[in-house]
Amino acid sequence: TVRGDEPRRLAPRRRSRQIMVGNVPVGGDAPVSVQSMTTTVTADVNATLQQIAELTAAGCQIVRVAVPSQDDADALPAIARKSAIPVIADIHFQPKYVFAAIEAGCAAVRVNPGNIKKFDDRVGEIARAAKDAGVPIRIGVNAGSLDKRLLAKYGKATPEALVESALWECSLFEEHDFRDIKISVKHNDPVVMVEAYRLLAERCDYPLHLGVTEAGPAFQGTVKSAVAFGALLSQGIGDTIRVSLSAPPVEEVKVGTAILEALGLRERGLEIVSCPSCGRAQVDVYKLAEEVTAGLKDFPVPLRVAVMGCVVNGPGEAREADLGVASGNGKGQIFVKGEVIKTVPESQIVETLLEEAVRLAEKMGVD
Ligand code: SF4
Repeated sequence: TVRGDEPRRLAPRRRSRQIMVGNVPVGGDAPVSVQSMTTTVTADVNATLQQIAELTAAGCQIVRVAVPSQDDADALPAIARKSAIPVIADIHFQPKYVFAAIEAGCAAVRVNPGNIKKFDDRVGEIARAAKDAGVPIRIGVNAGSLDKRLLAKYGKATPEALVESALWECSLFEEHDFRDIKISVKHNDPVVMVEAYRLLAERCDYPLHLGVTEAGPAFQGTVKSAVAFGALLSQGIGDTIRVSLSAPPVEEVKVGTAILEALGLRERGLEIVSCPSCGRAQVDVYKLAEEVTAGLKDFPVPLRVAVMGCVVNGPGEAREADLGVASGNGKGQIFVKGEVIKTVPESQIVETLLEEAVRLAEKMGVD
């Protein structure tokens, strides 16, 4: 990358077994992947594929589709065949759709122990079908649909209850020698969720799918997910993530990707280091940061660009970035790779930074 080696400070990754969701490895030393879920009626194949294409373009690596009806199950072969990314069928209540999803070529199936009383008797059959097709199963426990037996035992969806539910379901599959499993234990409270995943991480080596369920509208859901995923991933826990937002799923992918970038688990594209501005600012920092962000959107080289309002922290941040401006008195000192190359009036700061970005990319052989 353009940036130098930054020290990693996250805890070592938990050792999980690796599974394959289609062509995407999950667990082991595979990079943490980003998933989302379609909001279309799955039976509407064109609309669903259109949304999957949008999610794929946004960087989604695995997509899940809901299968509540026979019409949805009937749509799975076309969706699985035409999707550019692996498709997971999300199934509650109806074991017959699990077999349909495996038959349809879905990359994995998600089942929910709280909603699958009817499944337990058929775990052997499901395990056999999944094993024959090389299809992993996600055991997806959700606080809102916790097994009644565990609700009675624990009183509510505690971390222990979520974990017990997941491991119980795993044990049913393990009895049939099936371990091609990943697990989620979702709760809408990030603190409970973090504790549940911590407990689970200690008690098994299955890869873990992180999620704060029913996290809320975009702002609240983003904060909750970032806090919870950050806490877990910084401890090495988590192999794939889904941000749940009451917002278009492309937003989930953007937030998920940004969380991984913020943790240094994914190479950043453009990173703008801009100050919040304050009474010392001598230029319009918001406008500069916005214009630089817009000008470098989709730039082919990952760059860190510092846009700073005055000389207090400006030179320090600008020097550490690939490109930067430390402003003062209606002017901007332009930094490239730590060196001041010129001072320009405020009106020329943006264009100068964009020119220097192109020059840097050329030096790296990227047009
Ligand atoms: Fe204020 Fe200067 Fe810091 Fe920006 S860099 S927040 S203008 S002190």
